[in-house]
Amino acid sequence: MSFKPANNIQDLQYFGEFGGVNPSISDSSTYTFLSAKTMFDTFEGNADGCYLYSRHSTPSNLYLGEALAAMEHTETANVTASGMGAITSVILQLCNAGDHIISSRTIYGGTYAFFKNFTPKFNIETSFVDITKLELVEKAITKNTKVIYCESVSNPLLEVADIEGLAALAKKYNLKLIVDNTFSPLSISPIVLGADVVIHSLTKFINGTSDTVGGVVCGTQDFIDELRNVNDGACMLLGATMDSLRASSILKNLRTLHIRMQQHSKNGLFLAEKFEADGLKTVYPGLKSHPSHQLFKKMMHAEYGFGGMLTIDVGSLDKANELMELMQHKNLGYLAVSLGFYKTLFSAPGSSTSSEIPESEQKEMGLTDGLIRFSIGLDADIERTYNTMRECMEELDILTH
Ligand code: PLP
Repeated sequence: MSFKPANNIQDLQYFGEFGGVNPSISDSSTYTFLSAKTMFDTFEGNADGCYLYSRHSTPSNLYLGEALAAMEHTETANVTASGMGAITSVILQLCNAGDHIISSRTIYGGTYAFFKNFTPKFNIETSFVDITKLELVEKAITKNTKVIYCESVSNPLLEVADIEGLAALAKKYNLKLIVDNTFSPLSISPIVLGADVVIHSLTKFINGTSDTVGGVVCGTQDFIDELRNVNDGACMLLGATMDSLRASSILKNLRTLHIRMQQHSKNGLFLAEKFEADGLKTVYPGLKSHPSHQLFKKMMHAEYGFGGMLTIDVGSLDKANELMELMQHKNLGYLAVSLGFYKTLFSAPGSSTSSEIPESEQKEMGLTDGLIRFSIGLDADIERTYNTMRECMEELDILTH
């Protein structure tokens, strides 16, 4: 693929108002106008380059949005206070009462809960399907369907969506394909593969320092304008606005994303291969045994690898908890939700980040009690990490050979 997402970020030039190499941070919630007429025009959305009020937009937020749009190959982007702020705004912008959504059944628990428990209040119904089976997705389409929603690599089962296949369906039935690309920034470019809107939780790999929540919607200028519209824009009216100070710190972190993703992926692949060879049930898109390994390879920018997320199944929740506590004790990482940190993070999704999904449905989708989700860190010596992890597993009789 000729599109180079990291080059696009790197090639943007920003200067602060005094020639600083970082843009100045806009530290205001409101902005003055020299004339009342310009203020009116700005309200109407007709005064480019003018700022009105910081829930609408700020220079710092626009800088970050521009960089993320460059990364995702969209015309523009709107940053939000969290990933959920991006997801809920997009869905409520696109769907009206009576509309229908088709969603992957394996998605982040908060998104699942929003579709399952919240949007029905507005008479918006969701069918959850196995997104890896295009025929099931097509079968689920009704005359009311507006949106196909998926994660490029799903949380927590690491299922991989066939974005080109889903985009073809979306085009055929005049639907919008929305892709949450949180698990695979730089590796996968959903827009290039035909998606209409890309969302990220910036909280994860993109920011990479686990010090803030944040989100982004990347799309066409028209769609982002709709989200920001003062009369009926979901981002403007629901108020999930990012603070300028945060936009500025996330922009600085974004500049090292390409290096971090390479290291996350390198370490992820190393551990996944070792765990699998040790006989552990291991899921990682970079393993040949992953059902969508070839599909990921076809979609990916190879230099960023298969990402930093992997899962193993140690048989029971008790064993999973024991192992995670021991690994934390040995300073191999933290027993914590979230992902994309320099330290390895691990959690048992069935009882944490996916606990919103009822147990019966967890079973059906293959989310087992003994599943541990790892966000592999930036460890400089991953072999040492592996050796200590192996010792922990031997101590707990998880490894049998
Ligand atoms: N999308 C995915 C894939 C996630 O894993 C998460 C959070 O874990 C979210 C969205 C929500 O993001 P945030 O916590 O920033 O609201």
